Amino acid sequence: MDKNTLLQVWPIPAFDDNYIWCIHDGKSALVVDPGDSAPVEDYLLQNDLVLAGILITHHHADHTGGILNLLRNFGADIPVYGPVGADIPGRTVIVKEDDKLEIASPRISFKVFEVPGHTLTHIAYFANMQANVVEPILFCGDTLFASGCGRLFEGTPTQMTQSLAKFASLPKNTLVYCTHEYTLSNIRFALAVEPNNVNLLSWSEKAQALRAQNLPTLPTTIGQELQVNPFMRCDQAAVIAMAKEVSMQQDLPTPAHVLAVIRAWKDRF
Ligand SMILES: [Zn+2]
Repeated sequence: MDKNTLLQVWPIPAFDDNYIWCIHDGKSALVVDPGDSAPVEDYLLQNDLVLAGILITHHHADHTGGILNLLRNFGADIPVYGPVGADIPGRTVIVKEDDKLEIASPRISFKVFEVPGHTLTHIAYFANMQANVVEPILFCGDTLFASGCGRLFEGTPTQMTQSLAKFASLPKNTLVYCTHEYTLSNIRFALAVEPNNVNLLSWSEKAQALRAQNLPTLPTTIGQELQVNPFMRCDQAAVIAMAKEVSMQQDLPTPAHVLAVIRAWKDRF
């Protein structure tokens, strides 16, 4: 296999609504957040792929629960990348903000972002365009979802706002590989926040058509999320106005204040 063969990214469905993403060159594969080992093993065997590495975004069990089985069954020397400060079973490579990962097989280079909010030590993996990567790609774990964001289990609205701002600064064509199929319920909430957002209305129709065929609504893109995701639009007049109305607060001076209101609203939506 030529080393410049374009990399492919495929979803491996797990549990009720998780996606374990597999990046491969037709020969060797990386998997992101294997919460379960069995579907990953089936996928690798069916596609004749060798497991070459495991990328972990955060410590939750539905993202880490399959690591030890995969190491047991495919090789204890397979590198497991994970964030500093988090308890990740089997982790061998600790990564932090701005680290550059040069992975040889499949050949890909990632930059690491620290994106606290959902958890305090959550990270994301970003690959800009390179010889075998045509569009930038982002593995964002449970920080960003299509039309939504992760619950704030450990971090603050300010941290989540800053984390989403890092994503907002990436190229608009960045393909975003979220780890849950939450899109339709996120869209229902986003429409409550912005009932007149025409981009959101057309995305809602597309997403419903995809789900009606049992197809993933992912990846999304940064450009699309900037148009339809209320959590990335906390500086927009319509979102600010709705946050004021819902919270009955006249003064929401920063995007973090707005995010705090709409995240709390989503939690009880
Ligand atoms: Zn999580």
